[in-house]
Formats: sequence, structure tokens, C-alpha cells
Amino acid sequence: MSDNNFYSETTEAPKTSFDVSLRPPVFSEFVGQTKVKDLIILRVEAAKMRGDVLDHLLLCGPPGLGKTTLANIVASTVGSQIHTTSGPQIEKAGDLAGILTNLQEGDVLFIDEIHRLHPTIEEYLYPAMEDYKLDIIIDAGPNARSIQLNLPKFTLVGATTRAGMLTAPLRSRFGMINRLDYYPAHELATIIKRSAGLLEIPISEDGADEIAGRSRGTPRIANRILKFVRDYTQVRANGSIDRPIADAAMELQDIDTDGLDDMDKRILESLVFKFDGGPVGVDSLAVACGEDASTIEDMYEPYLIMQGYLKRTPRGRVAMPLAYHKFGAPLPVRAPEDIQTDLL
Ligand code: ADP
Repeated sequence: MSDNNFYSETTEAPKTSFDVSLRPPVFSEFVGQTKVKDLIILRVEAAKMRGDVLDHLLLCGPPGLGKTTLANIVASTVGSQIHTTSGPQIEKAGDLAGILTNLQEGDVLFIDEIHRLHPTIEEYLYPAMEDYKLDIIIDAGPNARSIQLNLPKFTLVGATTRAGMLTAPLRSRFGMINRLDYYPAHELATIIKRSAGLLEIPISEDGADEIAGRSRGTPRIANRILKFVRDYTQVRANGSIDRPIADAAMELQDIDTDGLDDMDKRILESLVFKFDGGPVGVDSLAVACGEDASTIEDMYEPYLIMQGYLKRTPRGRVAMPLAYHKFGAPLPVRAPEDIQTDLL
């Protein structure tokens, strides 16, 4: 869905930057993820040449990396409608039946957080994905009977932050499984400059680099910081963004030079100081930080692990030397056999 669909087509929308959608609408504007993008483009082109419906596509990766954006681009490239829902939103088989029977031939059904689908709903999805058929039970008690509905051929695009939580039968029904990775700083800088152009805010190269370096490899965060820096420069500076202005604005928001935000730092501080560097279970860590365990696992840990601040082990989370350096804390003296088992 576009970010700026607040106005109907007949209503003239006021042209303020508030309404500008930063979501790239076509593959050529989608920065980075070249391998994934090329694979999808190839399959889309092939399906179009055959006049066939695109195979089901699963997109995995941490939040904010472009899964929803890609689903929208796929739908518009194949020239079809996108219907958007999410795993927890589909509570009953009837909800799914309603969604599926409303699809037109070739439509894209986008299910965000697909790992959170209820197991019974998943079972209904199998024949729908494989044979475009839906078995539903009507009536109850002695009159209950199962009928089979034929569905139009459609493409399911599933997005998940937890590919490991997807059941094997569901996973195996996707013809394409692609993982999005964190973006390198130079790609984030390109995204930031593109967004600044759309928001009509001047930005220097070093200003874009400064924001990119602190955006945790994530376009959504880069855009969020950019909007804050824009507000900052419009109110407190000269209306354009350079490195010192970006730096001052981000300092105000407690985004440090390594790109860690308040919660990242709280997680690492708890791990290092309250739990002696671990190993500690994610539930205890979550209580200590006042955050939900699954939010820590989905949103914060992947980046901290990738940057080498912490490690997941079978016995729990363990702080790595970089986490101690971050707070100027001395490395713990542990028995070598302890470190060996912690880091397994
Ligand atoms: P996800 O579905 O993975 O959580 P989104 O697709 O909603 O992420 O992306 C978040 C925002 O980041 C989008 O609104 C878009 O503006 C921006 N974005 C994501 N990926 C890219 C990209 N590759 N190029 C440019 N902008 C992007």
C-alpha cells in the first residue's frame, strides 16, 4: 500500500512533504539487495512472457528492510492488485476464505508476519497455494459438510522476520524464498539522498553519510532519522542538512555514533553489568530492559549480533568484547573452559 493513500483520486491532495511517499514504486528505484531483486525480476519477466501467474514468494529479514515495498513493486510490475493483511489479523478460517474468494486472477496476496498465522489457518492455505482450491466446512453438527471452492490463480507474497518459525510444509509451498540483508552505509546514503529529494530538503554528501552510518543498516530507520533531522534544521538551522547539523540533531535523539539507539544500549548495559556478560535467557534480559522478548529478538538482536556486540548461544545471550569496550568496562576474567562453552 502506498504511504499517501489518504486522499481519493478525485480529491486534490495538498502538496506538502507530509504526504510524500518515500516507498520506491518500481524496481529501478529500489536501492540495493541486487541479488534478490535480480532473481525476482527474472521470475516476474518469465511469468509475464508465459502469461502465467508468478510463483509464491517468501521474503525474510529484519523489519524495515523493504519486504512490503518489494511486494508492492511485484504487484505493480505484474500489473495486478495487491491485497494486504498479516498473520495475526486472520483469526478464523472464514477470514481467510473471505480474503481468498475476493481475489482476481493474478492478484498478489501479501501476508505480513506470516510466521504468526494460526496453525489451523495454515492448513487451509496449503491447498489454496498448491492447487488454488479451498476446502471449507459449512453448517454444523449432523448437517456439517465440506465443500471445495475453486480460487483464481494468485501469488502469495509472505513476509517474515522469523524464517525459522515457519513450518516446513508452509515453507515448501513457496517457489521463491529470498532473504533481505542489512544495507551497507553507501546504499543507505543513496536512499537518504533520494528521500531528501522527495521531501525537497537540501542535503550534502557528508550529511547523508552521517545519517547512513547511524541507521543500523535499515532504510526505515534512515528515513525516520532524516525526517527528524529535516525538522531540526528547519527549526534550529538554515533548512539544509550537512554533517554538523545531522550530528547535532542525532545527538539530541541519543543516537550514538555507532548507530545504537537507547534500547540497544540498554540491552548491552543490562547484559554487561546486570548479568555479568551472560549467558542469560532472552526473557530475563527482556524484563531487565522493560521490553518484550520477541521485540528484542526480532528488532534489536540481529543488528547487535551482526555488529559483533553479542552472541546467541544454547545457554543464552553472551556479551562480546565489543560490548565491554562500548562502555569502557573491563573484560571479565573467565575460566577458558567457561568461555568455550558460552560461545558454543
Ligand atoms: P519491511 O516490510 O521489511 O518492514 P518496508 O518495505 O515497509 O519494510 O520498508 C520501510 C521503508 O523503507 C519504506 O517505506 C521505504 O521508504 C524504505 N525502503 C525500504 N527498502 C528500500 C530500498 N531498497 N530503497 C529505497 N527505500 C527503501
